[in-house]
Amino acid sequence: MATLASLVDLSDRLAATAGRLEKRRLVAEYLKMLAPEDVPIATLFLTGRAFPPSDPRTLNVRSLPAAPSAPGEPPLTLVDVAMAFAEVAEASGAGARRAREARLAALAARATPGEHALVDRIIAGELRTGVSDGLVLESIAQAAGADLALVRRAALFLGDLSAVAPLALTGGAAALAGVAPRLFVPLLPMLAEIGTGFEDVLSAHGGASALEYKYDGARIQLHADADRVAIWSRRLSDVTRSLPDVVAIARRDLGRLPVILDGEVVALDAAGRPLPFQELMRRFRRVHGVEALAGEMPLALHFFDCLLVEGRSLIDAPCIERWEALASVTGGRYLAEHAVIDSVDAAQAFQARALAAGHEGVMAKDLASAYEPGGRGKRWLKIKAAETVDCVVIAADRGSGRRMGWLSNYHLAVRDGEGFAPVGKTFKGLTDREFAWMTARLGALALADDGYTVTVRPQVVVEVDYNEIQKSPRYPSGLALRFARIARIREDKSPAQATTLEELRALYERQFTTKGRAV
Ligand code: AMP
Repeated sequence: MATLASLVDLSDRLAATAGRLEKRRLVAEYLKMLAPEDVPIATLFLTGRAFPPSDPRTLNVRSLPAAPSAPGEPPLTLVDVAMAFAEVAEASGAGARRAREARLAALAARATPGEHALVDRIIAGELRTGVSDGLVLESIAQAAGADLALVRRAALFLGDLSAVAPLALTGGAAALAGVAPRLFVPLLPMLAEIGTGFEDVLSAHGGASALEYKYDGARIQLHADADRVAIWSRRLSDVTRSLPDVVAIARRDLGRLPVILDGEVVALDAAGRPLPFQELMRRFRRVHGVEALAGEMPLALHFFDCLLVEGRSLIDAPCIERWEALASVTGGRYLAEHAVIDSVDAAQAFQARALAAGHEGVMAKDLASAYEPGGRGKRWLKIKAAETVDCVVIAADRGSGRRMGWLSNYHLAVRDGEGFAPVGKTFKGLTDREFAWMTARLGALALADDGYTVTVRPQVVVEVDYNEIQKSPRYPSGLALRFARIARIREDKSPAQATTLEELRALYERQFTTKGRAV
C-alpha cells in the first residue's frame, strides 16, 4: 500500500519542476509503481479531490485541526486518508460534527507536518503543484502506454479520471475502447462555440443546420430506467433532489427506457413567464422545502439531445438521428423548439421567432455531428442577440464610499491556454447581496493581498455584457472590454468553460461587419 509520504514526496518534486514534460514523467512513474487499489485514490488526490466529481459526498470541513503531531508507526497510507474522508463525509445525525472532528483529529495526530499540509491542500481542492487534470490525463496515457485520444474519450464518458486511471493501467487500450456512456454515470455536457452569423453557420455545417431556441435556464442531464431517475447539472453536481417535478415527469412520461437525455430547465413565475437565472439557481441549491418551492416556481423543461435509448449508446450517431430518438422517447413533449434550415433567410426568421418569444438567441447544430462530451467546437454554435462573454474573476479591488468593506471592482480575464488573460475590470451590475456574496467567495479564494487589490484563485465565472471590444495597449492580450458590466454570476460554469482569447479575437473581428474600423 502506498504511503501518504510518497505522495508528499511526489508533490514536492512536482512543485519544484517547471517543465510540463518532466511533471508528466514524474506523475506517470508514480502511477506505474502503485498497487491497483491505490491508483484511483492517488489520481483523486493528485487532482485535488477528496471524492470523484459526480460523487455527492462532501467533507464540509475547511482544514485538518492543528493537532500535536506524533507520527509513529505504521506510517499513514493513501487508503487511511481515503477511509478517513469517507467517514467524515458520511457522519450524519446528532453528534455528526463531533464525530467528524474526532476522526480528523485522529488523522492529524498521525500526520507529519508535510502530510498535514498535503491533506489540507486536498481538502482545499488544489494541490498547488501546477498539475492540471489535462496533465494527469496525459500521465495516465504515458503510464499505461495507451493512445492519448482513447484515454481522453474514456475520461469524457466516465467523467472521472480516478475511474480512467485503473482501467488504463490494468486493461489497456481494449478496456479504454470499450468505454461507453453508462447509466447513472454523468457525462460532461457538449458545449457550444460563439457563432458569428448564419452564413458562417451554414458553411460550417455543410449547407444545412438544426436550429433550436436557446433557452436561458440551466443545463440538466437526466438518466432514467424503470426504477431510478437521476439528474445532474452542467458541472455534474447531483440535483435530483431539487427537481422533484422533473423526476415525476420522467417517471410518468418517458418511454424507451433506459435513457440519457440532455436539456435545459427554465424557472417560471406564477404567470408562466421565465424567471431570472439566479432564481433557478436558488432551486438547484435548495435542500429543504423543495416541494414548496417546486409549487411556487414551476419549471419548463426543454430536452434537446438523447445519448442513450433502450440502453443503447447514441453518442456516435448523427445529431439528427439522436433528435428523432429523443422525440420518440418523450412522445414529442418537453422538447426544445427545433427546425432544420438551409438558408440564411429561414435562419433569420427562426431567430426572430426565438427572440420574440423572449429567448436569448438560437443554437445551431451540425446535423451529421456526433455528441462530444465536454467538447466545444463548431458542431454546436450559439448565436445570441446581445453578445456576452464569460470571464473569470482573477482579482478584486477593495471598494470605497458606498462599497466600503466589499471587494467590488473585479478584474476580468478570458481563458488563454492553461492560464487567464486580463481583458477588463468592472464594478457594475451586481446587487448589494451579490457584492456581499462575491466578497465572501473571493475572500475564501485569496492568494495575495496588497491592501487594495486581492488576487484570487481563478474560480468564479461571471457573464459580462459590454459595449465594444477594443484594442488595448495596456493588457498583454491586446484586447479590452469597453463598459463591461456583470450580467450575472455563473455558478453553473467552471473556469474551464469560460470564453477563450481566441473567441474574443473572433468577436473583435466580427464587430467590423456592422461597424467601421477605426484607423
Ligand atoms: P452558454 O452557456 O452561453 O455557453 O450556452 C450554452 C448553453 O446553452 C448550454 O450549456 C445549455 O445550457 C444552453 N442551451 C439552451 N438551449 C439550448 C439548446 N437548444 N441546445 C443546447 N444548449 C442549449
